[in-house]
Amino acid sequence: MSSPCDPKKQQRLFLALWPGENERRQIAKLAAQAADRRRVCDANLHLTLVFLGATTSDQLATYEAALADLSIPAMELVLNRYGYWPQPRILWLGSSCTPPELYGLVAGLHRRLRGCGFVPERRAFQAHITLARRFTGSVSTQLLEKPVRWPISDIALIASLPSPEGSRYEVLRRWPGG
Ligand code: ATP
Ligand code: MG
Repeated sequence: MSSPCDPKKQQRLFLALWPGENERRQIAKLAAQAADRRRVCDANLHLTLVFLGATTSDQLATYEAALADLSIPAMELVLNRYGYWPQPRILWLGSSCTPPELYGLVAGLHRRLRGCGFVPERRAFQAHITLARRFTGSVSTQLLEKPVRWPISDIALIASLPSPEGSRYEVLRRWPGG
């Protein structure tokens, strides 16, 4: 077994937009309206920016140094549509007008992390919040009358921890500040 200080010990990590209480409540409501089963639990709702995967504490220290002076451009994310990806059967919430600043933010994260040897995934970034997995219902992709308006001011580093009920997430820190 590895001790907590073991530099080889790995954590499963990702960078995300982490909703505040108010946004989380609204997103959870939309999730409940669209799916009655196999929903992501309310506490886990998030928008992944970069999936870091298994990360040692040494790697994390390098990533944190590379992100130290990160600034987040002012933006508002308007979550105004559901979407469905048939292959993984994922129901998601997203935006018909993802702000260019968000693409810029992800590109900037990739650039900084590449400098530390991290290899970003090749798939283009698609801003989405997974609401349900193995979804079997149907959903309208018409624009929502009452979108969730989410002012973005920071990003979060999240640890994904296995638990008997499925993955549990823990916010480790935020940028900028904190
Ligand atoms: P579980 O895997 O237990 O069903 P989960 O998918 O919520 O739960 P993780 O697999 O730890 O938990 O994933 C954390 C976040 O990173 C999720 O938003 C997930 O969609 C995303 N993610 C996971 N694996 C990858 C990957 N290989 N590439 C890109 N994003 C990923
Ligand atoms: Mg997963």
